[in-house]
Amino acid sequence: KVRDPDGAALAERRQSRRIMVGDVAVGGDAPISVQSMTTTVTADINATLQQIAELTAAGCQIVRVAVPSADDAEALPVIARKSQIPVVADIHFQPRYVFAAIEAGCAAVRVNPGNIKKFDDRVGEIAKAASEAGVPIRIGVNAGSLDRRLLAKYGRATPEALVESALWECSLFEEHGFRDIKISVKHNDPVVMVQAYRLLAQRCDYPLHLGVTEAGPAFQGTIKSAVAFGALLAEGIGDTIRVSLSAPPAEEVKVGAQILESLGLRQRGLEIVSCPSCGRAQVDVYTLADRVTAGLQGLDVPLRVAVMGCVVNGPGEAREADLGVASGNGKGQIFVKGEVIKTVPESQIVETLIEEALRIAEEMRAE
Ligand code: SF4
Repeated sequence: KVRDPDGAALAERRQSRRIMVGDVAVGGDAPISVQSMTTTVTADINATLQQIAELTAAGCQIVRVAVPSADDAEALPVIARKSQIPVVADIHFQPRYVFAAIEAGCAAVRVNPGNIKKFDDRVGEIAKAASEAGVPIRIGVNAGSLDRRLLAKYGRATPEALVESALWECSLFEEHGFRDIKISVKHNDPVVMVQAYRLLAQRCDYPLHLGVTEAGPAFQGTIKSAVAFGALLAEGIGDTIRVSLSAPPAEEVKVGAQILESLGLRQRGLEIVSCPSCGRAQVDVYTLADRVTAGLQGLDVPLRVAVMGCVVNGPGEAREADLGVASGNGKGQIFVKGEVIKTVPESQIVETLIEEALRIAEEMRAE
């Protein structure tokens, strides 16, 4: 179930079949995973492995690499072997790279029905090779490269067109008894994307990979993805997510993780509850919140820290949090688990909060 922080259910999770992408389960009741894609030239093995290591450190669970050339395909065995997380080969146009990726030990292969005309008559061979190797296929439909037949039929990349393209490709694999599939139907418009996934969710039981494609630079892309994923995940739709940003891929992973945490779909890590400040504020809330956030970066326990600018909502919020401060009159009342433990001068608020947070984290780890 999708749950809010108090445990109330937002929606039943859609029942999907479970597939394995390497050692990461996707679908069924598996936790919703966060994935990203490298931006390096895949053939540059060192740079690609370095970026995969950075993504892994940021919390990425599955990574995709583009395979546009033979050099990239040749790099796959080393990358698949040395990556700490499952590697998905992203393949357009060239069926032979699909076989190369399977042989290389990639955990999955992504194909795009709009770009795989030549694939259609080789689906049987692909299904056989993938099935023997236990490698699932992601059928990744993208509004920007929709199958021409469907573009002609629908006039543009409508939700129906995206879904029809995906299910058509699935049917080709199903004819060969292959169902180890996950699907994405990405569009850059969150409204169309949400409609497409809703439709798809009704029409099949394959696990769904959510994505708003070409979502834009970090600020816009974050909001588009959060809104679209939020709508779907709150309805129980979605088994793995990829946030697409015109920004370093580790940022995509952080945004993806934060979306899941915000919906209570993943245990929350550090959460700063800070007020927006207003005319009543008796302290510089922005600076205070920034300094506390910076001081606690990397803390790996679920801790809610309230930073409040005055005594109107301050004590209430600070009491609800594990730790908090309500500021006023040049002082800060420090709360731990609802109790005021001390009052400190404004200049000592940040260091006191950090000190207390580290102490609570230590206790949590010992429990
Ligand atoms: Fe304004 Fe106080 Fe609320 Fe912060 S806590 S927004 S300062 S009323």
